[in-house]
Amino acid sequence: MDVVVLGGGTGGLVASHRLRRELPREDRVVLVERDVVYRFAPSFLWVLTGQRRPEQLSADLTRVTRRGIELLKPTRSGSTHTRRRSRPRGGRSRMTGS
Ligand SMILES: Cc1cc2nc3c(=O)[nH]c(=O)nc-3n(C[C@H](O)[C@H](O)[C@H](O)COP(=O)(O)OP(=O)(O)OC[C@H]3O[C@@H](n4cnc5c(N)ncnc54)[C@H](O)[C@@H]3O)c2cc1C
Repeated sequence: MDVVVLGGGTGGLVASHRLRRELPREDRVVLVERDVVYRFAPSFLWVLTGQRRPEQLSADLTRVTRRGIELLKPTRSGSTHTRRRSRPRGGRSRMTGS
């Protein structure tokens, strides 16, 4: 089974991690998100008050691929760019784009 989660905001991130935990490894969990930077919106207020810097509220969304979640970035043409985790036999996991 393939499951597609639309939007990699807080809701989409929580949903895709939960699905990854619950589903068997052979099932694909695909997260579609246009921005590879995740930002935690509730903490924007702390940026306004100078108590946080923007980079403290941000994370590289491509990290989800380490957890077995595929990340697809839509393009202007409507197609998608995918990042998959590939694991060479006997080697470490690595990221590929296609
Ligand atoms: C200042 C501030 C304070 C807040 N405080 C709180 C709080 O205290 N408690 C609370 O519960 N909530 C709070 N919120 C609200 C909370 O941040 C949002 O409810 C929450 O982020 C919504 O999550 P979401 O995943 O539904 O949507 P979003 O976080 O908006 O994620 C949607 C994602 O979909 C992606 N996307 C949209 N369209 C496309 C497309 N066509 N193709 C690909 N990707 C797409 C976007 O890039 C985005 O990453 C606050 C918000 C702000 C701004």
